[in-house]
Amino acid sequence: MNFDTAIKKYDPAFGIEVHVELATRTKMFCSAPNPAFDNTAENLKNPNTMTTPVSLGLPGALPVLNRQAVEYAIMIGLALNCSIAPVSVFSRKNYFYPDLTKNFQTSQYDLPTCINGHLDVELDDGEVFRVEIERAHLEEDAGKNTHIGGSSGRIHGADYSLVDYNRAGVPLVEIVTRPVLNTGSRAPEVAAAFVRTLRDIFKALGVSKAQMERGNVRADVNLSLSPKNSGTLGTRTETKNVNSFNAISQAMQYEITRQAELLDANKEILQETRHWHEDTKSTSAGRPKSDADDYRYFPEPDLLPLKIDTAWVERVRALLPEMPVERKKRLQAEYKYTDLEMRDVINAGALDVIEETVKAGSSAQGARKWWMTSLANYASLNALTLDEIATQVVTPAQVASLQELIEAGEINDKIARTVLDAMMAGEGDPKEIVEKRGLKVVNDDSALITAIEDAFARMPKAKEDIASGNIGAAGPIIGMVMKATSGQADGSKVRELIIQEAAK
Ligand code: MN
Repeated sequence: MNFDTAIKKYDPAFGIEVHVELATRTKMFCSAPNPAFDNTAENLKNPNTMTTPVSLGLPGALPVLNRQAVEYAIMIGLALNCSIAPVSVFSRKNYFYPDLTKNFQTSQYDLPTCINGHLDVELDDGEVFRVEIERAHLEEDAGKNTHIGGSSGRIHGADYSLVDYNRAGVPLVEIVTRPVLNTGSRAPEVAAAFVRTLRDIFKALGVSKAQMERGNVRADVNLSLSPKNSGTLGTRTETKNVNSFNAISQAMQYEITRQAELLDANKEILQETRHWHEDTKSTSAGRPKSDADDYRYFPEPDLLPLKIDTAWVERVRALLPEMPVERKKRLQAEYKYTDLEMRDVINAGALDVIEETVKAGSSAQGARKWWMTSLANYASLNALTLDEIATQVVTPAQVASLQELIEAGEINDKIARTVLDAMMAGEGDPKEIVEKRGLKVVNDDSALITAIEDAFARMPKAKEDIASGNIGAAGPIIGMVMKATSGQADGSKVRELIIQEAAK
C-alpha cells in the first residue's frame, strides 16, 4: 500500500513530545557545567568530566533547583500560550537503567509548570494548523549509553557498553501536544512544521542552542489511524528520538502506511515504542508500552514545591523578544517580498543575514539576490550555513557595499559577480577589489562611441535597421560593444548611445 491509498481509507491522529535542552550555564540541580550551554566540541568529547555528586547520584547528595532553568521554562510556556501554574511539583520517575545512577529521573508529573497552550503552525503554502499543547514540564536529562560492537549500535549484540554522565542532569523542558486531528494527508508536514516552529521559538527566546543535529531538540512521534470519519481513536505507536524535520515527516508517512496495511489485513496494531532508521527510512518495533507504565511516581522529598507568583511571570513576560512569526510578517512588509520570495528566504535560512545586509545599507531586493544565488551556491558547495558564510567568508556589510556600488552605477551586475567571486576567494572589500582590478563600468561616452562605430563598420545593415526603427537589430551591436569593453559597460547606456549614433 502507498501513502495516498492509506490516507484515503484512514484518518491519522498524532501527538508529538519534544524534549529541548536548556542552555543554562549549570545543570538542573547542581553546579556542574552544562554541555548544552555552548555545545562546543571540547565539551562533548571528554566523557564524565562535567559531573558533581548530584548529577552522579551519589548517596546523600542533595539537589538545588536552577532558577535560570525555571525562567526559561516560563518563557517557553508563555511563547506557547500556556498558563503558568502558581505551584508545580517535582516528582521521582523511577526506572532502572544505567544512564541515570539515581534509578529515578527528577521530572514533573501531575503538577507541571506550564499547561493548556497552543501553537499555530504554518505550512509551506501558507495553510495554518493549530496544535494544542497539553503541558510543558521541567525535568533532567539522562546520561548517554554507547553500545560497542554489534551492527545496530543498540544493546542487543553489543560486546560492551560505555556510559557518559556529562548529559545527566542537563535541564530539559518536555512539551507534550494533545492529539492532533483532522490534518489528513498533511499530517506528516504539520508534525515537521510544528517541531520546526518550536525550534525557531527556542532560538528566538535564547533558551537553547536548539541544534537538532546535536540532540538539543529531540522529538517522539505518536501516531494512530482510525477508519475514515469514524470519530474514534485507534491504537498508537510512539516512534522515539526522530531528530530532523525530514525524518519526522518520513517516519510518520512510514507509520501511516504500515498501520494501514495491518488494519486492512485485520491485524492488530501493537501499542509499542518504535525506532526510526535513517538508512532504510523505516521504523522497527521497540518495547511494548501501556498507557500507564508503572514508574511509581511520587513527589521528590528533597525539593520544595515550585511557587511562581504573578509578578515573576510578568517580569519574564517583559523579557520576551519578538516571536519568529511576528518578525517574519514585519520584515516581509518592510522588504516588500512576495509570499514565495519570503518562503524561499526562510527555507534557505537566509533571513538573518539578509536583515544584517539591509541594516548595513543594501536594498532588500539586492540583499536577497546575493544571499539566495551566488552565496547560497557557495554555501552548499562548501557545506556551510549562510550564518557561517556571514562570519567566516563574506560579511553582510561587504555584501551591502557591493550592492551599493551597483546602485551607484559604478559597476554592473556582471562585474559584481566577478567582484563577489573575488570576495569569496578572500580578496577583501568590494571597493578595493574594483580599484585593484580596474573593474569600474566604462562610462566614458567617447570610448563607447568608438566601439559602436567599429561595430557599425562591421555590420552596416544593422545600423540601417536600427535607424529605421528596428531596435531589435541592436542586439548584436550591444554584444560587440560589451565584448570590446570586457563586459564593463553599462548595458542601458550602450543601448541609448547605439540608437543615438545610428540616427547620425
Ligand atoms: Mn521526558
